Amino acid sequence: MKFAVILSALIVGLASGQDAEKRSYRGDSVISAASQAAASALKDFLASGAVQQWGGNGTHSQLHIAAGKVKEVLNSLLKSNVGYEVLTEDLQQELDKENPTVASRLKNALKNGHNMDWTSYHRLDDFYTYMEYLAATYPKIASVGSAGKTIEGRELRYLKISSGAANPKKFWVDGGIHAREWVAPAAAAYVMRELVENRSKYASIVSNIDFYVMPLMNPDGYEHSATRERMWRKNRNRHQNGCIGVDLNRNWGFNWGTAGISHNPCDPQIYAGAKAFSEPETQAISKFILSIKNNLKAYISFHTYGQYILIPYAFDDVSKPSDFEELKRVAVKAQSAMKAVAGETYQVGHTPTLVGAAAGGSDDWAKGTVGVKYAYTFELRPTNYRVGFALPASQLAVASQEALAGVLAVAKEL
Ligand SMILES: [Zn+2]
Repeated sequence: MKFAVILSALIVGLASGQDAEKRSYRGDSVISAASQAAASALKDFLASGAVQQWGGNGTHSQLHIAAGKVKEVLNSLLKSNVGYEVLTEDLQQELDKENPTVASRLKNALKNGHNMDWTSYHRLDDFYTYMEYLAATYPKIASVGSAGKTIEGRELRYLKISSGAANPKKFWVDGGIHAREWVAPAAAAYVMRELVENRSKYASIVSNIDFYVMPLMNPDGYEHSATRERMWRKNRNRHQNGCIGVDLNRNWGFNWGTAGISHNPCDPQIYAGAKAFSEPETQAISKFILSIKNNLKAYISFHTYGQYILIPYAFDDVSKPSDFEELKRVAVKAQSAMKAVAGETYQVGHTPTLVGAAAGGSDDWAKGTVGVKYAYTFELRPTNYRVGFALPASQLAVASQEALAGVLAVAKEL
């Protein structure tokens, strides 16, 4: 009986993501078009938020078009002679395929201690419960800490994974600073699992390194993305004018506000905040990272998507750290290791060249302010030619394995 009660509670809990307040993306289109030409042809649509740029490479971008505006937008492109390719005419259909059914997910809930797996996407509670499970089950290796709280009062938790070596090197891994990039927190959780539960496999690489893994840098945004607006990116700070959210990966204080940002609090994607470190999340996390900066040798932030290993700096089109070639050498090692998992190529290069300049990113700050030698942003699966943020959960395991392979390849070089 108790079992039945738990099950029905779970069904309600999982289904509540589909309540009336949840935004539908039925009829929204995603297209690919030449970046510059599309940006000028669609300037007004981009300003109003009817069109949102998702990602892209040096030449092409994916553009998400709200259902009611699709005809108008495509007409504007035709009038301006801008070619495009339709990736989906119904984003909701892609999102419906993203996670397995409730029934198949329930099976996972019956395990002892935690619900985490890499066959479905999980809510914040599952991540934090899993971290507590690891710390309780492997107390000699793993411990849970909090860097502080979000604007809505959620904890910013990290897992410290340590062999207890004297004077260890340190390695920071995070995910989820952009809410909708759901593969990133899952990959960070996979790194935790492997370095704790399957630690013996990697003993020779990790015995001398303390890892700090924060799978969800933006827990408020993540929960909002799970329950209300799947395509939400920013945090949930409410501005005086009624608009919501700051792009936390434009808010770090190294050459803040110089490129690839918006100063408009209503910008749906890249509002950089009123000033550097205006947000409680970036304040708390940066303070914590500074507290462990002694011997902090590597910083990797997981994002999606595009399959890139991005090397700082990104605050303008040209600036590089003086040891850029060394960072590139190690990135190429990571690239080989990631390709060995399933044959997928992750392009290596300077951030502005591959995806465009964007100031206020966490990796720029880690490298430029903290002085972390090997600082990277990994853009995980899929590539730019598929439907970006809606990676089916069936690819979550292999995407996570690739992320881990990249982390281990960097760890070997420390
Ligand atoms: Zn991102």
